[in-house]
Amino acid sequence: MPRLPNDCFSSPEDMISVEQARALITEKTGRIADTEFVELQNSGDRVLAEDIYSSFDIPPADNSAVDGYAFLHADYTAQQDRAFNVAGRSAAGEPYLGELSEGYCVKIFTGASVPVRCDSIAMIEDVTEAADTIVLPAGLALGSNRRHAGEDLKTGALVLKSGTKLRPQEVGQLASMGHHKVPVFRRIKVALLSTGDELENPGDNLPYGSIYDSNRYMLLQLLNKYGCDVKDYGIIRDTFDTLRDAISDAAANTDLVITSGGVSMGDEDHVKAAVEAAGDLHFWRIAIKPGRPLALGQVGGTAFVGLPGNPVAALVCAIQFVKPLIARLSGETFPKDPFALSGKAAFSMKKKTGRREWLRGRYTCNENGVGKIEKFSSEGSGLISSLVWSNGLIELKEDTSTINQGDNLRFFPYSELFE
Ligand code: AMP
Ligand code: MG
Repeated sequence: MPRLPNDCFSSPEDMISVEQARALITEKTGRIADTEFVELQNSGDRVLAEDIYSSFDIPPADNSAVDGYAFLHADYTAQQDRAFNVAGRSAAGEPYLGELSEGYCVKIFTGASVPVRCDSIAMIEDVTEAADTIVLPAGLALGSNRRHAGEDLKTGALVLKSGTKLRPQEVGQLASMGHHKVPVFRRIKVALLSTGDELENPGDNLPYGSIYDSNRYMLLQLLNKYGCDVKDYGIIRDTFDTLRDAISDAAANTDLVITSGGVSMGDEDHVKAAVEAAGDLHFWRIAIKPGRPLALGQVGGTAFVGLPGNPVAALVCAIQFVKPLIARLSGETFPKDPFALSGKAAFSMKKKTGRREWLRGRYTCNENGVGKIEKFSSEGSGLISSLVWSNGLIELKEDTSTINQGDNLRFFPYSELFE
């Protein structure tokens, strides 16, 4: 299994931009997932591991787009009354195999192969039917209602590229080509830990001074959506020894270890020392809000990410930096075409320049196609209710200093960020 190069997250000293951080992740890490084959029906949301070419035309034969009558257009233009004899029928899966002579047509159904010597199809609704003959209406164009062989895919075409995450339509396209075993990259194994002496598991008692661990449950869902095979390492008490042992154990058994909390450099934050004892750790100073610095490191060949403890910062950093890292390790093509919605700010605010900010936002689009973007009333980074209220993140660029009501904003829906 390929591993990461040693100390690949060694830190840039200076403050870096989001783009620089993402470029470093891309440059310093690579795919570690091997290829495996899965049944077509289980290939959804997996990452394709090979380029796929079509080995035959799809559809394989010319066929009809409607129910009606197939005929030769040259006969039709020659025929004064446009009356045809009906020679037989061609249904989907039961093609007409006979030979046709001049003035004959074939009754045909949607998806049925177009008989030899026919090139056009009249819709049943437009045809006058008698016992053994029919009359076609005037004005039918050559090639009417005929679907051509290879109009979906031509033999030899590059259909899907390695690194593509398979959506329902890609699975459908693979099925149309007859693939039943699909080469995909193995899911990467991710260890998930929470750190903090104040944390309890939902279902347990909550002593005074404690809170329930929400990050681990939230991140578990996110990592599942990102296609990871998540191993839950639970809550680790914030002492050097327990953390070092848990992180070493997690690293030995997975491809990526993710913690939340314990990296803010307080007296009770032991993640840094624990990772350094087992491997390397670096604090990346990224010009963002919320959530800096971000701890990135390595234990053996296993990547390590220490997310902030505050739930909003943890989720935002996971979306912005763990998502590209997972894509990289998993062999998924990243970045994809940028996908954002445009909308008008329903608020005004001032912002510090020199850093990128993500606000919890709610996007709605009116009947005229005008998008409106609201922001959550408070910026507190511990407020999970703000994440629940929002349906995506508003991105404010580094050089933005003021937002006025009605300004155009970029909005990233969670539906996209969670893919
Ligand atoms: P820390 O970085 O450990 O100092 O944590 C910063 C803040 O995030 C503190 O208020 C913690 O109580 C909170 N926090 C840390 N981990 C979690 C967690 N897993 N779930 C909810 N809140 C957390
Ligand atoms: Mg803590």
